Amino acid sequence: MKRIALFPGSFDPFTKGHEDIVLRGLSLFDEIIIAVGYNSTKSKRYFEIDLMITKINETFKEYPSISVQTYAELTAEFAKKNNAKFLLRGLRNTTDFEYENSISQVNKHLNANLESVFLITSPQLASISSSIIREVHKYKGIVSDFLPYSL
Ligand code: ADP
Repeated sequence: MKRIALFPGSFDPFTKGHEDIVLRGLSLFDEIIIAVGYNSTKSKRYFEIDLMITKINETFKEYPSISVQTYAELTAEFAKKNNAKFLLRGLRNTTDFEYENSISQVNKHLNANLESVFLITSPQLASISSSIIREVHKYKGIVSDFLPYSL
C-alpha cells in the first residue's frame, strides 16, 4: 500500500523552508500532497491562493509524486478522504513544538489512523517564516532569497 502524506499549511507564501520539508519527506513517503488550507484564525490571506497553487506546481513540476490541493475543512477529514495516513510537519523551534504538539494530539483524536511526522528544519532555513516574508514584501523588500520560485 502506498504511503501517502499530507503536508498541510497556510503557505502564505510557500517558502524554501517548506520546499525543504517536502523534498526530505520524499525519502519517507511514496506520495506527498501539499494541502493549502484556509486556516480559520488567518482567514484573510496576503498571497492569493490561486497564485500559490500555480507557484507550488511550478516548483515541483519534475516530481510526479508531489501534488497540491486546497481544502477548507478539518485536516484530519481531508487526510482521510485522500487516504493519507501521515501528516508531515516541520519544526523550527520550541514555539513550533508547542503548537504542533497540541494540534497533533487533536488530529490523532479526530482520526486515530493519522500519524504526525515531524522533520526538524535545516539550520540554514530555520529563520524563514511566511509571516516575516509577508512583512518584507508589504514594504517592498526583496523576498526572492526566501522563495523557491519567482513572484
Ligand atoms: P500553519 O499555518 O499551519 O502554521 P505554515 O504554512 O506556516 O502553516 O507552515 C506549514 C508547516 O511548515 C508547519 O509545520 C511549519 O512549522 C513548517 N515550517 C514553516 N517554515 C518552516 C521552515 N523554515 N523550516 C521548516 N519547517 C517550516
